[in-house]
Amino acid sequence: MHIHPHFIGGNIAVGKLEDHMVYVERELRDTEGDWFYWAFCVEDAAGMTLTFRFPSSCRVGRFGPAVSHDLENWHWLDRPCTGDSFTYTFGPEEKRVYFAHNMLYPMDRFRRFCDVHQLKMETICQSVRGRDLPAVRFGSGDTWILLSARHHACESTGSYVLEGVLETLCSSLPAGYAVLAVPYVDYDGVLDGDQGKNRNPHDHNRDYIDQPLYASVDYIMQFGRTHTVAYTMDLHSPWHQGAQNDHVFLYLGNPDLLPRARRFSAFFREESAALPMVYDGTCDHEPAPDWKNIMTHTCQNYFGRLPASRLSMTLETPYFGLEESKVSQDGLVALGNAFGRALLRCLET
Ligand SMILES: [Zn+2]
Repeated sequence: MHIHPHFIGGNIAVGKLEDHMVYVERELRDTEGDWFYWAFCVEDAAGMTLTFRFPSSCRVGRFGPAVSHDLENWHWLDRPCTGDSFTYTFGPEEKRVYFAHNMLYPMDRFRRFCDVHQLKMETICQSVRGRDLPAVRFGSGDTWILLSARHHACESTGSYVLEGVLETLCSSLPAGYAVLAVPYVDYDGVLDGDQGKNRNPHDHNRDYIDQPLYASVDYIMQFGRTHTVAYTMDLHSPWHQGAQNDHVFLYLGNPDLLPRARRFSAFFREESAALPMVYDGTCDHEPAPDWKNIMTHTCQNYFGRLPASRLSMTLETPYFGLEESKVSQDGLVALGNAFGRALLRCLET
């Protein structure tokens, strides 16, 4: 039996093995404070029953780990398990099984999506670790819609939502508009399986400062200075689970843009009403009265303050959801489609 993190997004520290109990823990790397992302592969355990135990109750979601045999298709284990462990019986044919905190987004999936929809991927910069950082742009207008995901590397739900938004926009974008989508702002973190959240000294979504640390953020800021970016939608996942983190919610952003944000929210409620993963607006974050939350150096705040900005928001989609709104790969894409339809309605009005 072999447990390892040697695949895209892999992250695990393996401790001792006692009887059928394996002690494991996520690798925090350069994240300050606790965070919960992990993903590992188990090989050559056919026929065995193993319990994987973490030292914290904030590691395994309410439906158990996400499980995959190919890193493409993910389902929940869906058996009762405590937040610090889960038990799995490997079938006789199960040579290789992947487990993760949340459903990983396969990088090949985005490439295939772009091929199917004839969207050309381009390189916008080199990442800190020397990789070509991809983006997609389409439309011929000069009023821009900026879509971004994975400012925090581990937040894969945002990638599925992005796919859904792009699917809707690429077939129906009105004249006069163009889209720039940056699917992996923290590309290194996504590939290497970092938490990405609360990096020391700061993470990608606190890098919208005079001298940004990260080339992708530098590129995005420069794009904002040289283009008319009217709509900015930054896609995230929230904390592990519980309270608002079990629901889809928006940060409505700059008070000056609040009427438009509320209109978008109403459209998004209508467009998602019939979906398994519904957005109902009840957990949204209004701007704080002291403006404190619009002064942090986030993507949303940077673009919200630019003169051309009509709307600049952050969408948070849960890792697990609740029994009646359980997260799935298809459910997240459908939510993204609804988000795209709401955005198109904003452009029309
Ligand atoms: Zn985030």
